[in-house]
Amino acid sequence: MKSIRGFVGAARKVFSMNSSSMPSAPSPQWDPKTLIVAGGRPAHDTDAPVNYPVTFTSTYHSQGQAAAGERVYARFSNPTWDPFEEVLGQLEVADSPALVFSSGMAAIAAALNLVPTGGVLVMPKHSYNGSLALSSELQAAGRLSIRPVDIADTDDVIAALQGADVLWVESPTNPMLEVADLPVLLAEAKSRGVLSIVDNTFATPLLQRPLTLGADLVVHSVTKYLSGHSDVIMGALVTSDESLRQKLHGYRTLHGAISSPMDTFLALRGVRTMAVRIERSQKNSQVLAERLAGHPKVQAVRYPGLEQDPGHERATRLMDGYGSVIAFQAGQDAAQADQLVAAFELITGATSLGGVETLAERRARHGSEPETVPENLIRLSVGIEEVEDLWRDLQQALEQL
Ligand SMILES: *Cc1c(COP(=O)(O)O)cnc(C)c1O
Repeated sequence: MKSIRGFVGAARKVFSMNSSSMPSAPSPQWDPKTLIVAGGRPAHDTDAPVNYPVTFTSTYHSQGQAAAGERVYARFSNPTWDPFEEVLGQLEVADSPALVFSSGMAAIAAALNLVPTGGVLVMPKHSYNGSLALSSELQAAGRLSIRPVDIADTDDVIAALQGADVLWVESPTNPMLEVADLPVLLAEAKSRGVLSIVDNTFATPLLQRPLTLGADLVVHSVTKYLSGHSDVIMGALVTSDESLRQKLHGYRTLHGAISSPMDTFLALRGVRTMAVRIERSQKNSQVLAERLAGHPKVQAVRYPGLEQDPGHERATRLMDGYGSVIAFQAGQDAAQADQLVAAFELITGATSLGGVETLAERRARHGSEPETVPENLIRLSVGIEEVEDLWRDLQQALEQL
């Protein structure tokens, strides 16, 4: 009995963690690359686990008037979410922990719900196609109206902000890799009282921290670089505005768009290695982008790390790296580009990005992709394999064209 009581005591110490007082509160001097390894851990007590356990429960012991901060029910709160939310909030330099959602799209749906009824949403023409499809549906239903903009064209965006309610930003954009002048756009939005939301999935907070540049809310598909192993679907929102966070928390609770404890555990485990994964995949991306740009069968390459890329100057000024997604055009038409993807032996033909393995996809195969995305544009999510193996695979497939 004694040992059981002892265990329960230790467990209670672990479970009593709440998002505002983490036992392993990170040192403010920690570099983000250290924070992802050392943050979100139990206190260094004897016999405390090094990782928080995964809490599989639907409910908690709770009776009478619930005290503030009491968990009550697992749609409202789960201790497995806390360390991930804490670490992501700190990575984005937010004053509050993040909020996890069941997918990037669930987080996007919560964010789009912030557009007031009948309101105006300024949205990049080239955004993640799920964001475009959902906002188009909301427009068709009369819920809001969309002003499409070229997010790389600062004057175009500023002109559209007049009388708008929400500015949606992706930078770099999926899949066109356009780079926005984030600080200028966010300041212009703020001065007009326009709420700004940045989908930071491509850059990750290791390369770009939109809240520090004036964004009101950051959106993540945790599915991608944060979890990093193509084995989880999850999303997150991050804000420093406590009343906005409360509102989004309420949305999550009522719409039930919650992340499973197991997925959240896997995502935190994935975050631990994000810095080394990104360091390696960016290095690979730079080499591959340069070689693709010089290959006779490749018509065009977009990668912000290329000196000749239209986004290069901005990305160099605003980001701590160029990311690990390359867009290139090859083949005369959709069929030839499909053939190219089918010819890969090492590289996987699949949608998604941000995993350790290199994925390639002809984006226009999706009917929901904007018509301005070229039919033969291939999005390459560069992984952490040995770069020469990746190049050999790209070369042999290009040679078959
Ligand atoms: C994948 C992706 C999403 C959607 O996330 P899910 O986790 O698939 O729902 C949103 N934004 C961007 C930029 C993405 O790449």
